[in-house]
Amino acid sequence: MGSEGGPQASEEPLGDYAGLGGRGMTSAIIATEVPPLCHPLGEENKLVVAPGMLSGSHAAQSGRVSVGCKSPLTGGIKEANAGGQGAQVQARLGYAAIVLEGKPKDDTLYKVFINKDGVEIIPDNSLKMMGNYDLIDKIKTEYGEKVACISIGQAGEMKMTAASIAFTDMEQRPTRHAGRGGVGAVMGSKGVKVIVLDDSEMPARLPKDAEKFKAANKTFVQGLKKHPITGEGLPAYGTNILTNVINEAGALPTHNFQTGRFDGVGNISGEAQSEIMTSRGGKVAKGCHKGCVIQCSGIYNDKDGNYLTKRTEYETVWAHGGNCGIDDMDTVAMLDRLDDDFGLDTIEMGATIGVAMEAGLAKFGDGEAAINLLKEVGKGTPLGRILGSGAAVTGQVFGVERVPVVKRQALPAYDPRSVQGIGVTYATSTMGADHTAGYAVTANVLGVGGSVDPLKPEGQIELSRNLQIATATIDATGFCLFIAFAILDQEDTFNAMLGMLGAFTGQELTGDDFVALGKKILDYERDFNARAGFTAKDDRLPGFFKTEALPPHNVTFEVKDEDLDQVFNW
Ligand code: SF4
Repeated sequence: MGSEGGPQASEEPLGDYAGLGGRGMTSAIIATEVPPLCHPLGEENKLVVAPGMLSGSHAAQSGRVSVGCKSPLTGGIKEANAGGQGAQVQARLGYAAIVLEGKPKDDTLYKVFINKDGVEIIPDNSLKMMGNYDLIDKIKTEYGEKVACISIGQAGEMKMTAASIAFTDMEQRPTRHAGRGGVGAVMGSKGVKVIVLDDSEMPARLPKDAEKFKAANKTFVQGLKKHPITGEGLPAYGTNILTNVINEAGALPTHNFQTGRFDGVGNISGEAQSEIMTSRGGKVAKGCHKGCVIQCSGIYNDKDGNYLTKRTEYETVWAHGGNCGIDDMDTVAMLDRLDDDFGLDTIEMGATIGVAMEAGLAKFGDGEAAINLLKEVGKGTPLGRILGSGAAVTGQVFGVERVPVVKRQALPAYDPRSVQGIGVTYATSTMGADHTAGYAVTANVLGVGGSVDPLKPEGQIELSRNLQIATATIDATGFCLFIAFAILDQEDTFNAMLGMLGAFTGQELTGDDFVALGKKILDYERDFNARAGFTAKDDRLPGFFKTEALPPHNVTFEVKDEDLDQVFNW
């Protein structure tokens, strides 16, 4: 989509990008085509939306989509990953990537409609400053109940660095977000409010070897169902099963990373959440896209039994719960709903409100005050604009020293002093602090894929390195990252996943190929960040993690700087 004489759409062959998908596609395009020193909101930046390699096929769990750009939050490369229906529908339409580029000449807002006949770019200023929920309702009346939408709320239009991009789920609600790094602000800077995808009359993508693919898919699904986390824990309690587990491990960042345990944890745990959902006629266990068999999502109704939000995920429950001292599930669910509506990253906003509470803007535990602060963001008041710029800016404006960010992106829900492996990932990831980039909680806490003492520095570099490589590849395939529990523990499930990829593409894929792809993606990203000015000093945690001991284990982050510099030395 260009901007000369009004926005235009054009279709291009994939060329050197053929065969890539998801994060492999987004990071290759951004590293190759975007000048690393450009302004993230300027015309030289690009926003790339790429379904995974297997998206649009009948492969289980293959509906993840990657959104890439130069991040306005970190200043480095960004890949933000989401579920929802977008990946499947876009892939069936035959587009391996949608690329928004250039910059509109005025402040006209556009919607983009894509179906089997091609692409239309339509000016529609009636959508201005709509929240995601109202926006999707309007789109449904216009385009029907079957389309998938990719959209921004008010935060993206205001180009806030905490702004997300929403993907509609199976019920056409804007609940699945490419949350991190301010990708919504980049979409806003391109003047696009919503991309509407209609795959009517488009068939599923077919594998090269149908029999082999079907057999591998069957073994893969059996593997997911037999693993205790993917087969039982996640469907029953969602990702919020982790609240009790991480609190028990003394690693639940509480009151803006002051302690590792939260007294009110019983009210916001996955167990408590599921009980509330069931008692109010909500739904426990559902997928965010067709073909999900793990089903970590669900429906959370309000006290009157009306839909409020999806099953709020662990990261969000932590961010708006323990981190802000809030132990009321309805308040946390409301904050989640508001984030989704305004189009905001829940991790960034929870961390930001935690910093604001430490600055004295509200008291820890005051749920009503947290809701009011978030509403300021949606309205775009001067205070809201500061908060919508994330934890780093908020800490700077209000003079707070304890600001939990790396590369200006907020830390997620595991304190790196009690889970030192995830600290290595936070520090060194190309994305800024990001738990999904190399989820060392597996071996550190969950006993998945081996066991490494979470409180000691030994073994953490190798653990994080291997996980960062594997994750980059999984993010390229379109598989939901939660398959990692089963493929790390069960060799037959890992082999079945490789079998699906091989049968689909027609090219056998070995374990070495899997590793090589991850390294290639990380090389693209490291190269972009180096050219954007990042050096070893950016691969560090904030100083307070090394000087303030975290109760209850009273530990500091002990991994040495020179060891952090070895993570990508392969
Ligand atoms: S496991 Fe959860 S996040 Fe993954 S695809 Fe299913 S519902 Fe979506």
